[in-house]
Formats: sequence, structure tokens, C-alpha cells
Amino acid sequence: MRKVFLGILMLLCGWASVSAAEKSFSSPDGKLTVWVDDANGTPTYRVALGETSFIESSPLGLKTNIGDFTQGLTLTGCEVKPVKDQYQLATIKQSQVSYEATEAVCSFEQQGKKVMDVVFRVSNRDVAYRYTIYPKGGTLVCVVDSEASGFQLPAGTTTFLCPQSRPMGGFARTAPSYETGYSLDDQMGKNGWGEGYSFPCLFRVGEKGWVLISETGVDGNYVASRLLNVKDGLYRIGFPQQGECNGWGSTSASVALPCQTPWRTITVGTTLANVVETTVPFDLVSQKYKASQEYVWGKGSWSWIIGMDASCNFDEQKRYIDFSAAMGYQSVLIDALWDVQIGREKIAELAAYGKTKGVGLYLWYNSNGSWNDAPQSPKGKMDKSRERRAEMAWMKSIGIRGIKVDFFGGDKQNMMQLYEDILTDANDFGILVIFHGCTLPRGWERMYPNYAASEAVLASENLHFGQGACDAEARNATIHAFIRNTVGSMDFGGSTLNKYYSANNQRGSRRVTSDVYALATAVLFQSPVQHFALAPNNLTDAPAWAIDFMKSVPTNWDEVKYIDGYPGKYAIFARRAGNQWFIVGINAEEQPLKTNIDLSLFEKGTELQVYSDDAQLNGSVKTVKAKKQIAVTIPTNGGLVIVNK
Ligand code: CA
Repeated sequence: MRKVFLGILMLLCGWASVSAAEKSFSSPDGKLTVWVDDANGTPTYRVALGETSFIESSPLGLKTNIGDFTQGLTLTGCEVKPVKDQYQLATIKQSQVSYEATEAVCSFEQQGKKVMDVVFRVSNRDVAYRYTIYPKGGTLVCVVDSEASGFQLPAGTTTFLCPQSRPMGGFARTAPSYETGYSLDDQMGKNGWGEGYSFPCLFRVGEKGWVLISETGVDGNYVASRLLNVKDGLYRIGFPQQGECNGWGSTSASVALPCQTPWRTITVGTTLANVVETTVPFDLVSQKYKASQEYVWGKGSWSWIIGMDASCNFDEQKRYIDFSAAMGYQSVLIDALWDVQIGREKIAELAAYGKTKGVGLYLWYNSNGSWNDAPQSPKGKMDKSRERRAEMAWMKSIGIRGIKVDFFGGDKQNMMQLYEDILTDANDFGILVIFHGCTLPRGWERMYPNYAASEAVLASENLHFGQGACDAEARNATIHAFIRNTVGSMDFGGSTLNKYYSANNQRGSRRVTSDVYALATAVLFQSPVQHFALAPNNLTDAPAWAIDFMKSVPTNWDEVKYIDGYPGKYAIFARRAGNQWFIVGINAEEQPLKTNIDLSLFEKGTELQVYSDDAQLNGSVKTVKAKKQIAVTIPTNGGLVIVNK
């Protein structure tokens, strides 16, 4: 009897929760649908792909100092229209993007006054939303203290997440800098180290598919956020922590009204294809200024990863310029301490020498003003406009190609403004920008035409620092390919061909991955500027076929396709540059990966160059047969590359 009564009650509640005001709209192909509701005055949304719910009823809204826009709200309607955009962007995973989506502007009133819109965009693989907050009478600015923006994942979903660090911890109190390890296929309901998770955040909804949650369009107008677990499967947007940036700046966002917040993005797919191939971080943003010149992207070398601080001297950098020239590379990155160990005059000499060889220089800078203890110099050149612009004028005068600015102070709005100011000033002087010890880029490839890449990952430096990272190298690479690198260019600095991380290549932490793995990750990891962890000795001590491949591998891609894989286990992708497809795979599992790779990207009869850890197969040329398949084995910590000739 009790059971029957409960059943009736549940039915009634289910019926009652379908408010008359619920609105829905779908992607151009009709498969991805969003419902928006205001039952009990609380705005919510949910997302389904076909019949499958991927985001269950989840809260929307913001708390501001001009009103609490999370409750007491009435949905007055959703204005729905198709949107289209075509754009070219050489520096991301896809050079030509044809974006199509359904836009729905859902307006909310409070006490009879329009206070907020939630603007949705639904493409065939992504749902995104952001808020528009309206002025209140003569009040033309407000403080956004928090967002209710939530993501209720279905029961049984597992998580692929890395914790957000507490502030002012880690090396020289430089955290958070998005350099933590991932837990894979973990249960929901945890909250990292107590401070939630760094974007992007990947979830597996059992056998039904995958969800990638992130954000884009963050600049000096707002804070960057993280994902906090509320309870069980409910996650919500979290603002920065008070201690970030040595306590300087608020955790809230200070905005002028009307204001449009950054986009919250949800990529959904039955396989990982949509996650790998999504362009949502770029689709939703626009360029903030024009490129001051045509920038030179491409490959380079970098002594620090093998030789560390001691290698940042004149002779060694000259040797690396020669090495880059021998490889046909476009640049050399000179890391920390060049100001004291080389000096400005000698840097100018190196820049002039590089120019004669077609090699441009990138110079490292410490970002710090007052937000960390990192002792590396040059310091105090990037945090204030006058010093920064004077420094950049000097760089321009000697022909410096770019900068790598390290050790940022977190995700508060003042830091977002600093990232934007560095990029904007650098463009005035024709300088490309790489960020390290930094936050995740959020649409910056399109917003800032001189933005190259960010670290925001446990990058190659950790391979030098310890054997544990070397032992886990392949595992971590399969994670980054499916998570971090799907939303933005990733400056990993890898593809090492040394056996050991030391200048004499005989001691230090030992690389356990194969040479073909190094080649495969040069393609798997996407960044329009790649400073590989190669060393001049590799010209003679690495296999000629590996060096030849590393000479010719592209850094700018026209297209990417997911073929197969699983975070932490293995990854097989294809990237296209012009009419060449590079199919690459790596394997982190304890057993060799035996699989048939689909070759339908190629015409029958196409000749394929194969790089394999199987000595018999390596260097062979295969012809695509009618079946369009190739049986391959990728050993543990090994790789595979297949390229059409
Ligand atoms: Ca770092």
C-alpha cells in the first residue's frame, strides 16, 4: 500500500514539475535538445542527445549586488533563431570552421522587471550558455559574486578530472597553475582537494556517451572559473579563491551593465569524437583586435628541457640556433635567467645571428609583480604597462619573435586583465605570446591573433624532474589528448628523442617511451608553436627517420578526427595538413594494443608511409586496399604514425 501511495506521489510530482513555461529548442540536426524552465521561480535547464539525458535539471542564475537572480524569476519566453558563422583560424585544430547553431535568448523577469537573459547556443555537438545582466535604473555597474550555473550529471556517471590547487602553494607559491594529475573513471560526489576541478572537465555517462564541460570567452571583463561539486552528481561554476594572487583582487567579477558573461560550454557525444573535434571554444568568441603583422608560427628547439638553467648561456643558445637551422625550424626559445647569464647585448647578438639562419628567438619572462616567490629573472617586466611596453619596444628593435611568460597568479579578474594586457601590448610590437605556469586559455586563439599557446598542463618539465612522470608519460599523454588539448593549444614541449633527460644523454630520468611515440605525440599534441624537447646530439644519436620526420611534421592543422581511444589507455587520432593525413596512435596500457585502423580517409591505391615500433613494419610503404583497413600493434609506451605520401 505504502509503495503504491509513493508511486502515485512520484507520478504527481513528475507531472507537477512540468511547468507550463518550459521551453525547448534543438540543434540544427534536431538531435541535441535543451529545455529551460522556471518552476518555483528557479531557472533550470536540461540537455538530452536523442532520447538520452546528459545534463539533468540543473540550476541557472547569478548572485549579484544588484539582486539575487537565482530565485523569484519568471521565464517570459525564449527567442529562437538559427545562427551561422564561417571563420578561418590557422592556429587551432581546424583551419576552416563552418559553425551552425540554434540560438535561444531566454528572458527572465523579477518582480515584473526584465533582469537577465540566458543566451543558449545549441550546435550539433555542443550546448553553451551565458548571461546578459541588465542595468537597474541608474545603476550601470554591478558585482557578480557567484553563479548558480550547474551541471547535474546522471547517476552512474564517472569523472576524468584534475583538482584545482589551493592558492599560493606549490613551487615558489605559484599555484594554481593547472598542473595537477588526473583521476580517471572516478565516482562523482568528490571535490578534488576541496577546491573543485580545473577546466576542462570530462565525464562518462556510462555506455551512453561523454560530456566535456568548460568555459570560453573569458577576458579582463570577468573571472575565470572552476567546477565545484555540490553533492552527488551536481557540479557548479566556482569563482576564484580569495588567496589567489597573494590576496590581491576580489573573487567576484566587477562588470559594466549591460554585461555578457563568459560562455559555459557542454560538449556531448555518444563517442569521444565530438570532444576531440569540437571547436566550441572558438565558435563563440570574436577577435578583439587585428593582427599587427603576419605572425610566423611553427617549430623550434629549446635547451632548457634537457640542459636546464645552466644551458641558458650564449654558446649553448648559439648551438641551439644552429640546431634549429639544421632542422629547418623557425625558432629557439631561450628560457629563464638569460638576462643575467647572457645579458641584453649578447641577446641582441644572438637575435641577429638567428636572423641570418632564419631562426627567431622567444624570450622567457617571470610574470610576477607581487604574487609569487619565483626567483627566476627577468622579473618585473611584464606586470606593469610602462615597463612591459619599454621591454617590448627593445624586443622589437632587436627582432625578437615571441615571449614565454611564466608563473601567473591565478584566475581572478585582475589576472585575466593582465593576460589580456600582455597580449594586447605584444601585438603592438609584433610579438607572439606563450603562457606558462598559467590558466587554461579560453577561446584566446581567436580572440587574440598573437596568442600562441599555454602550458596549463603537467608538461614536459616533469619528465626531467622525475622518473615517476617518465613512467606515466604515455598515460598522461592519452589524457591530455582527450581533455586539456581539446579546448586550446597546449604548450607541452615534448617529443624527446634523448634516452635520458641530461645534456650527456647518459643519466637523469630515463625516457620509457619509444621513438615512434615521440613522433606520434608531435602530431597528437596540438599547438601552432612547438618547441620540441630535441637536442643537437639527436642529429647523430637518434634514428635518421625520426629526425627526418621531426623536420617535416606540421604544427598548423586543417582538420582533426577521432579514431579510437580512451583517456589513460590509448589514443588514435588523425590530423590533416593540406592533403596529407597523419594517423597517429600511442598506447599506455600494460598490454600491446592490437587493432584494425580504418583507412577510409584515403582513396584505394594510396601509398602510406608507416612508422612503427615493429622493426619489420617501420619504414615500410603500404598501399590502401579495397577493405581500407590496416592491422597494427602498438606496444606499451609505443606509438604509430601513418602518413599518405
Ligand atoms: Ca610549468
